[in-house]
Amino acid sequence: MTQGRPLLNRRLTEFGTTIFAEMSALAVRTGSINLGQGFPDTDGPDEVREAAVRALRDGRGNQYPPGPGVPELRTAITDHQQRRYGLAYNPDTEVLVTAGATEAIAAAMLALLEPGDEVIALEPYYDSYAASIAMAGGIRVPVTLHPEPASGTYRLDLGELRAAVTPRTRLILLNTPHNPTGTVLTREELAAVAGLARERDLLVVTDEVYEHLVFEGEHIPLASFPGMRERTVTVSSAGKTFSFTGWKVGWITGSPELVTAVRSAKQFLTYVSAGPFQYAVAEALRLPDSYYEGLRADLRAKRDLLSTGLAEAGFGVYRPAGTYFVTTDIRPLGGERDGFAFCRALPGRCGVVAIPNAVFYDHRDQGAPFVRFAFCKRADVLEEAVSRLKGLAG
Ligand code: PMP
Ligand code: GLN
Repeated sequence: MTQGRPLLNRRLTEFGTTIFAEMSALAVRTGSINLGQGFPDTDGPDEVREAAVRALRDGRGNQYPPGPGVPELRTAITDHQQRRYGLAYNPDTEVLVTAGATEAIAAAMLALLEPGDEVIALEPYYDSYAASIAMAGGIRVPVTLHPEPASGTYRLDLGELRAAVTPRTRLILLNTPHNPTGTVLTREELAAVAGLARERDLLVVTDEVYEHLVFEGEHIPLASFPGMRERTVTVSSAGKTFSFTGWKVGWITGSPELVTAVRSAKQFLTYVSAGPFQYAVAEALRLPDSYYEGLRADLRAKRDLLSTGLAEAGFGVYRPAGTYFVTTDIRPLGGERDGFAFCRALPGRCGVVAIPNAVFYDHRDQGAPFVRFAFCKRADVLEEAVSRLKGLAG
């Protein structure tokens, strides 16, 4: 306290330390297998790492890169959007490189919101959304995805989404493929979101960092729907696609007006970041299709390994269509209902760390019995985790 006031402003007091930091520290402290925070335990392709080393040695990016990002990366991003999705963006005016998707989302909120504006986000939502909305003085309005145990999926109720829009709604903060549920929104669902945005004249910030990690269905960028290009900020990141989460190279694409607005905020957060890594990510984005197919096949096999193992261990399993997370229901284990208590006790009980989904909810009771495990780990690590978890039930 100073001047009789807490040091941390009231916009941030509810957030505390992120669950990822807490749970990764717990994993280190207890020597547990960390299936909590989503980071791969194997680095991405050697040639991409070597490209970063080369850039460092050749003095490319060791001084401030240009504010919007190095031209090589901006062009690689627009080529990627064109090649994968048929979306044409101008690398000079419609792309902005950011310090990971995290900064992109924060800058978008700071740029696009006035205090009091409402932001609709799919609940459970990635934790930085709530904090970014709060830092911008916005008000989050969660729309809850509903678990359907029979199909093992989570679904969006489009009627509830529609009902959440008010005259104060400024934007929808979308996430597909969705962390933590693994839901991939279908073409019909996305068309409905797009229709609502057009009808109510809303902006959409769409977090598509798991765009390449889709095992069932397909990833369709929201910006590809009619009338959406001019009202959509698309966010992605190299962290998930190339397994270099520590490099923190992210980006947005959008209309010149939207990109200029987001850049106005971003330039005062970091100005620029990750100079040499930007060159390496430019090369990574040009890897052949076989790279992306290999990544997907590897993670699909790991999804199956972990999902099957968790089901055998007695968890209720929501098999993800995308991302590298699987959400489970702990109630079938017998007597367990509180995911927080479960995750705090799990290292002591069997040497595994997971994330309680309740942290991603405003309606905490709805998330209480659900726990998320990451499967972006070596197969032998997942097998060991499963064998430990099998000792829990009964
Ligand atoms: N969005 C989602 C849905 C995520 O899961 C993550 C986590 N890595 C991020 C954004 C942040 O990405 P980055 O590490 O590129 O900041
Ligand atoms: N996105 C990662 C996850 O969901 C965590 C990133 C972070 O720690 N901020 O596990």
